[in-house]
Amino acid sequence: MKKYALVTGGSRGIGRAVCVKLARMGYDILINYASNAAEAQKTLELVRQAGQDGEILMFDVSNRAQVVKAMETWEKEHPDEYVEVLVNNAGIRRDNVLVFMSEEEWNGVLNVTLSGFYNVTQALLQPMLVHKYGRIINLASVSGLKGQPGQTNYAAAKGGIIAATKALALEVARKNVTVNAVAPGFIETDMTEGLDVESLKATIPVRRFGKPEEVAELIGFLASPEAGYITGEVVSINGGLHT
Ligand code: NAP
Repeated sequence: MKKYALVTGGSRGIGRAVCVKLARMGYDILINYASNAAEAQKTLELVRQAGQDGEILMFDVSNRAQVVKAMETWEKEHPDEYVEVLVNNAGIRRDNVLVFMSEEEWNGVLNVTLSGFYNVTQALLQPMLVHKYGRIINLASVSGLKGQPGQTNYAAAKGGIIAATKALALEVARKNVTVNAVAPGFIETDMTEGLDVESLKATIPVRRFGKPEEVAELIGFLASPEAGYITGEVVSINGGLHT
């Protein structure tokens, strides 16, 4: 029987690297994206090069109706299968100091991260509980652990996802479903483009940004059967930036 993993925001950056890693682990990948169809297609090609198949699922994680419809359609097409690994990776950054932060900047970031987590996880959780096996990994951030000026929205969202990870882990542990978060520091993706890389590097003990593939290795381990005794954890991957 085929095994399936869904990666939200799988079209680019960390999400793409996670798709490839999980494909190498033997999963067929459901690649979600919001707007960048060409990049999602590129990820699908990489998944196929890694020896597995995949499907592209377009939906905005913050739009509950879109998520429910996409997952109901998938379930109808796969009546005997379920998604056993979920990586809640989709995320956006809309930085601003709070005094000038617009409602769109505040709500946009919270909706994608927190409502996105709720919408997608709820759509996939029941089959995991029924099959008594599942792995859920949520993308947090160093910002959600220690705060970052200009990121009250992003820090609130990522801090919230850490708390949600811990609460859900306790709800579903008995059913062999683990829920963990990873908290990256600075990783080389579109999200960190335009930052002052040289001065930021000087603040990182290992003196470089991390690579999406390094985050994907960690997520791959948390998604593996071998990680079954780790749940409710937040694992940092930040080159020593924050311990
Ligand atoms: P990225 O390169 O900007 O890619 C973001 C991905 O999320 C894209 O695939 C994008 O899809 C998707 N996405 C955005 N909004 C979406 C929505 N409403 N519905 C569905 N998909 C959506 O970001 P990244 O750097 O890989 O970050 C991935 C995750 O890691 C995020 O949660 C981020 O907060 C977290 N993180 C990143 C860093 C870092 O330094 N890069 C550090 C800490 C945490 P489209 O291609 O369709 O736009």
